[in-house]
Amino acid sequence: MAQYTTEAIVLGVRNWGDADKMLTLFSREHGRIKAAAFGCRRPKSPLAGGMQMFNHLDLQLTEGERIDTVKQYTLHHHFKRLSEDLTTMAYGSFVAELTSEFAPEREPQPAVFGCMLDIFTAFETRNPRITALAGAYQLLEFSGLQLRYDHCVHCGRSIEGDACISMDDGGVLCADCGGTPCISLPGGVRELILHLISLDWKDVSPFMVHREELLLAEHLLLKYLQGILGKPLKSLAFINQLAAIRD
Ligand SMILES: [Zn+2]
Repeated sequence: MAQYTTEAIVLGVRNWGDADKMLTLFSREHGRIKAAAFGCRRPKSPLAGGMQMFNHLDLQLTEGERIDTVKQYTLHHHFKRLSEDLTTMAYGSFVAELTSEFAPEREPQPAVFGCMLDIFTAFETRNPRITALAGAYQLLEFSGLQLRYDHCVHCGRSIEGDACISMDDGGVLCADCGGTPCISLPGGVRELILHLISLDWKDVSPFMVHREELLLAEHLLLKYLQGILGKPLKSLAFINQLAAIRD
């Protein structure tokens, strides 16, 4: 069986058998991988402690017919806030689930890996709700499924201010092209979405977000994701439970 090394982030973990874990990894070199970490829940296992959600690892794996096996690891980075703060964890799980849903198995997507690493790093210091929203809009850019927000998808005219958006048509429509199934999209929300898509994670300057615009940008995203994935994301239930506890 061939061995290989790769740099990866843990996007999903579930316990398996008495002492094992099944992992969904996203690796810089190979994209999404399913792997088993045998015995890692035993305290004396050399893998104990490392196979945690969101961990950034250097891994040595053995290729298997159905599933690869983790042999060794070195911890690259442990995201403290993502693993200790429940709200951050909930929003981080949303980004992880989304990445996992969009990523085809074993297809290298180094740009997605870099983007995801930036998003997880941002979770350590930034507002988790806005980080997740910006992260999701940015990850959609790589999927080829992003809606268009700057030009009318029918006539190509540049959009200024308010518009309406048609998910079936793939984006915004100008006043001349818009029809009934078009959802109204206020200029402020459109600008917020464009800002989030182009947000540079290394630029730490804060920006203002109006609550109503944030809610609408979230609503649009979730409605669109539900449409393309054909199911609600599991992590949303976790986010909603936390919101219910807080309210
Ligand atoms: Zn138009």
